[in-house]
Amino acid sequence: MSEESTDLIEQRDHFRQLAVSLDREVAVLRSLLQSGKGFSEILEIEPLLDAVMSVCRERCGMKNSVVLLRDDLDPDSVNYRVRAFYGLPSRFMDKDGNEEEMLLFRLPADNGLLWQQVLQGDVFPVLDMLGQPYFQTAWDRWQLGVLQANVWCPLIKGGEVLGMLAMGDGTRRSALLSTQMLFLQEVCAVAATNIDSTLKYGKNLKILANLQTLYDINQELANLNDFKDLTRKTLRSAVNAMGAQKANLMLLNRSTGLLEIALVDGDIPEAIKNGINSGDVKTRAFEVGEGNAGVAARTRRPVRINHRSRIPQVGKHPVHCILSVPLVHGDELIGVMNMTNKVCLDEDGERVLDALGLFTETDCQLALGLADQAAVNLHKARLYDASVTDRLTGLKNSRHFEEQLAAALQHADETGERFSLAVTDLDHFKKFNDTYGHKIGDLVLSETAALLSDVAKDIPGVTAFRYGGEEFCLLMPGLSTAEAKALVEQWRERVEALALEHNGEVLKVRGSVGICEYPLHCSLGPDLFAHADDALYHSKATGRNRTSCAGVDVVMDSTVRRTGPEELSLMPPSIASLPPVTVSNAESID
Ligand code: GH3
Ligand code: MG
Ligand code: MG
Repeated sequence: MSEESTDLIEQRDHFRQLAVSLDREVAVLRSLLQSGKGFSEILEIEPLLDAVMSVCRERCGMKNSVVLLRDDLDPDSVNYRVRAFYGLPSRFMDKDGNEEEMLLFRLPADNGLLWQQVLQGDVFPVLDMLGQPYFQTAWDRWQLGVLQANVWCPLIKGGEVLGMLAMGDGTRRSALLSTQMLFLQEVCAVAATNIDSTLKYGKNLKILANLQTLYDINQELANLNDFKDLTRKTLRSAVNAMGAQKANLMLLNRSTGLLEIALVDGDIPEAIKNGINSGDVKTRAFEVGEGNAGVAARTRRPVRINHRSRIPQVGKHPVHCILSVPLVHGDELIGVMNMTNKVCLDEDGERVLDALGLFTETDCQLALGLADQAAVNLHKARLYDASVTDRLTGLKNSRHFEEQLAAALQHADETGERFSLAVTDLDHFKKFNDTYGHKIGDLVLSETAALLSDVAKDIPGVTAFRYGGEEFCLLMPGLSTAEAKALVEQWRERVEALALEHNGEVLKVRGSVGICEYPLHCSLGPDLFAHADDALYHSKATGRNRTSCAGVDVVMDSTVRRTGPEELSLMPPSIASLPPVTVSNAESID
């Protein structure tokens, strides 16, 4: 063969090789382009990470892979947490010997050698020829062997480390070809841009949803005045909005300076929940500064812990995460809202513990928004409460009584549901005051009022009021005359049994009651109070220390006067035939 033709053959081979390598590069670029396009169409983070990992594994012949992304779960340090993995067990054993979910594996950023390498931004091998880690300190400290990787690829966007992709081929010592390294380098740059925008997109969606939640809750709660009702609904809204497993609301007791659990909600046995919420079960109070809630109260900032090992485990159920947010109005600390663990819905739509659920920064912002709303609402409700509460007895005052009576009448007219009203009056109380002094008289008033609250508290909707000096009222929606009588008789008997000691003397006090049921014994709402009062008068007139019922024990003159002859003829004979009690002969009975 001539020298010339040898040259030509060499040239042809050279160009053929060049063509092949260019073809490969084009193929790499094409697949990169395809990957980039494909990545940008995925709007959710998990599928995006799965796609990135899959492309990289395939191109580099890897068996397992994992992506760690910077998370916002720990407000005090920067952490990178596993967000997607492939070919690795779903659980690992942590340093404390607890079995943890792989998705909870995290690596804190520090200034060590490994981080210097990550910050360079280049793909790098992490094992030497013998399969030993190059960054032994970091490997030991953070258990990085769990990730079973040979190569790490930083995911960097705008100079910031978003996370890293780590891959292994199972041999624990392979080296990548330079073309594979190049591919990884490029694909990770594209992936980082897409991951960044997907995370921001997801975060914005969540922020929008949270704003909607805050708006909805505000609409629902802004006009609620009843303090107890408001606290209950606030906590319930927070539990639902945050997907919390358990929650409590602590209020600052201004006189003791302690945080007291006022309410609990979430997945707590009903009996315990009801016991605490009704005040029957007393829970321990906390100092400001004590525990998670105490720190939130002292610093007036949210306190969030997403690490099981850093949360004191007191109960038998593990606490994976906890979030405490302070309720502050102006300069005043009102209380703290605490939430533990997160739930998700199972296939049947039941709330079940989400062992992977943690309180994110966005959750924290939502909780703060809820706490701010709650603080304003509770402050308003407290002012309202003070304006409708009698200071001496703690019962609702006559102003509130008028409102509630009108509301109860309206409700009864709309629904056809009956309700009873009782009016009580202490017997010979003027004389009591004259004999023992007003101070002791005041004490009697608060003791007898407390007894009335106590008998009322177990019956939903029943409310006690201080109508005037030593006169109380009880509104009893849904209760018949007989039921109402049974209830107020408990009060009367307990008042009679009350034995107050004063200067070695046991003081006795008694009370009389009048009851009227609407609409059975009073067809006109505005007359109801007068009818109950007439019945009370009957009790006074017939010896005191007793309960009389309008339309049963006594036919009111007013009933005869207020109802026309046709209506009167419709009254049951037993009622119509009862002798009327007049004011003049009532006085003489006593
Ligand atoms: P009756 O059995 O007929 O009801 O006799 P009474 O002396 O109780 O008569 P009445 O109900 O008219 O008297 C109300 C008395 O209640 C007058 C007043 O001395 C007392 N009182 C009213 N408000 C207060 C209060 O806030 N504190 C004290 N200590 N006494 C009050
Ligand atoms: Mg009176
Ligand atoms: Mg009296």
